[in-house]
Amino acid sequence: MNKMDIFVGGKWQLGRGKEMQSRFPGDNHIVATLNSASLEDVEDAVVAAEAAWREPSWRNMPAHQRAAILYKVSTLIDEQREELTHLQTLDNGKPWAEARGLVISAAATARYFAAVCEVLGGELPPRRQTDIMTISTYQPIGVIAAITPWNSPIASDMQKIAPAIAAGNAVILKPAEATPLISLKLAEIFEQAGLPSGLLSVLPGKGSIIGDALVRHPLVRKISFTGGTNTGRQLAHIAADKLITTSLELGGKSPTIVLSDADLDLAAHGVCYGIFSSMGQACIAGSRLFVARDIYDKFMEKLTVLTQNLIIGDPRQERVHIGPLISPAHRDSVQAYVDLAIQEGGEIRLGGKIPSDPALQSGNYYCPTIIEGLNNQTRVCQEEIFGPVLVVIPFDNEDELIQEANDSVYGLAAGIWTRDYTRAFKLADALETGTVWINTYKVFSISTPFGGFKESGLGREKGIESLKAYMQQKSLFLALNPQPNRWCE
Ligand code: NAD
Repeated sequence: MNKMDIFVGGKWQLGRGKEMQSRFPGDNHIVATLNSASLEDVEDAVVAAEAAWREPSWRNMPAHQRAAILYKVSTLIDEQREELTHLQTLDNGKPWAEARGLVISAAATARYFAAVCEVLGGELPPRRQTDIMTISTYQPIGVIAAITPWNSPIASDMQKIAPAIAAGNAVILKPAEATPLISLKLAEIFEQAGLPSGLLSVLPGKGSIIGDALVRHPLVRKISFTGGTNTGRQLAHIAADKLITTSLELGGKSPTIVLSDADLDLAAHGVCYGIFSSMGQACIAGSRLFVARDIYDKFMEKLTVLTQNLIIGDPRQERVHIGPLISPAHRDSVQAYVDLAIQEGGEIRLGGKIPSDPALQSGNYYCPTIIEGLNNQTRVCQEEIFGPVLVVIPFDNEDELIQEANDSVYGLAAGIWTRDYTRAFKLADALETGTVWINTYKVFSISTPFGGFKESGLGREKGIESLKAYMQQKSLFLALNPQPNRWCE
């Protein structure tokens, strides 16, 4: 199998680092072999990016022309939807329908930031002095390091590249070790769309080596990171030393709440999708479920039946709900959490094991798992498992519920199921999370800001304001009636 090239400073070339592979998690066969980037590749990419964003033809390019490149990117993604879906599924095992949804969202993200950058103007603040007018403008920051995880790469890559480019910066993307393919394909698409050379590089490789060298490079002026909280904290320390800004989209342990008056069918479908789609490998997975005690048995019966009906299998088949986990090691870590739950006094209501189907033995499959009988202080209720594992806790009153739902270092998302919107608003107000879904879960909108409270992150992606996170504000003072300042006379 020929080795794939990586994209360094506008050139397709073999990486100069160690050999690495992308494997299909459905059976662990090798999909592609490549060499990771080396430290020299990091240097070359950063130097090319620094030159490219300062190049007058890019610095002076009107916003609508930058937007035209992003519109072209979105068209190319739409035209290659099936191929990109296939690649995403091969790279990380995400079921076909979900992978296709991500591809559609990546095209929409490119279109959205094209539109935002076309219309984003500066500001004319109210005058404080009659003869002085002030103007506030936005300028690019420079070289941006974008670092992404493996769970939804095409979406998380595009949520960083599109606003960074729309704002006039250069971007160096370091994709996760397990999923380099889609990121390299995106580089090809940006090149086809006419993005000037050097403005985008894609450097696959180990986070602790390539990612670390990238963020420490003196010419890198912003870190945009999606991934685990511990990694995010390390990057925030580096950014603090360099005095540069970071956007951090981190982990979660999101509570979903079913109140006594909820439509139980609606809630059961939403809870099931919220935790088990993407096999629970989602930052916003609704992994802690709180159910009102008086409807607990009835609700759990419904949820159990729905979960039992989920189809586990090859993610390339359209009807499959549950594909494989990203790697054998990650499946071992999910199993270790299930074992820990039993030690902590939990009872397995469903799953808790590898499926027995012989056809699935070469992949990293794990059965959707529901655990009862744990209290919210246990490690299994507090730590992010990032797998198809739901813990369920009954509650008796709303004060106790709010206290327990908020008793987490994380604050990414929450879900509420009730027919009473007054109750829902009060509860949503009290929950310490960046997103609250009411009678729905895990739906997104590129026009609505997304990000975490507490240890789930810093800053927001999506929405008009998120473009400004890739810009710096500059204020101009214009004397309308210039007079000598005679203080030295
Ligand atoms: P991770 O933190 O291990 O890795 C994320 C990225 O960071 C990878 O590209 C990795 O190579 C790189 N990296 C690792 N160590 C680094 C270092 N020292 N310096 C620079 N880069 C480094 O996370 P993961 O296992 O790939 O992804 C899962 C995590 O991502 C979960 O915690 C999940 O909740 C989180 N996530 C958050 C969001 C969100 O929007 N909040 C979205 C998706 C995933």
